Amino acid sequence: NLVAVAVEARGGQGIPRSSGLSDDLFAHDGQITKRPVRALALSALAPRPGERLWDIGAGSGSISVEWALCGGTASAIEAREDRAANIRSNATAFGLAHRITVITGSAPEALAGLEAPDAVFIGGGLDIEMFDAIWSRLVPGARLVAHAVTLETEALLGELHQRHGGELMRVEIAHAAPLGRYRSWEASRPVVQWSAVR
Ligand code: SAH
Repeated sequence: NLVAVAVEARGGQGIPRSSGLSDDLFAHDGQITKRPVRALALSALAPRPGERLWDIGAGSGSISVEWALCGGTASAIEAREDRAANIRSNATAFGLAHRITVITGSAPEALAGLEAPDAVFIGGGLDIEMFDAIWSRLVPGARLVAHAVTLETEALLGELHQRHGGELMRVEIAHAAPLGRYRSWEASRPVVQWSAVR
């Protein structure tokens, strides 16, 4: 539960209220939206209590967990069974198993039985077919946030931004790391974020 997570991982200091929790709080295999970028994702998703999220390509479920911590419910759709297991254990560790439904399967097919969401996060597998299938299911006012790391997905987000408006943003984060006796900036891959309202 939440208390156990807080005590174990934060040295008894409790869980921060802000989005962008430490990556170490989540079971993951390296495929996780890293803390600073996750904070930007949650800011764009703008969760409100009681709202429903589709977290597509949920990976570790870190986005679903942070969404549910804000009082909403999430459907975490993940193609790989080993990652779906991580999502389940993260949901349980945070005491959020009742708010996060894990669906092992491929979007968009796996979305068939789900109720329409207030917001969608697409962190993996986006192509035009997936986009069309999702966009057509959204009610007016629903938010969509997609992240791209590859040139191909980035190009698609560029087109979607032109067609549907919204905000297109590129983030390049670098961390200071040792370089011999000195330090230097180690750049992460650029992430392109597109947010739009249906
Ligand atoms: N936001 C996640 C990281 C996502 S990594 C986190 O914070 O942990 C992208 C994930 O998308 C991978 O786990 C991959 O297995 C999954 N994926 C890719 N295409 C998919 C599809 N069509 N349907 C469901 N999951 C998909």
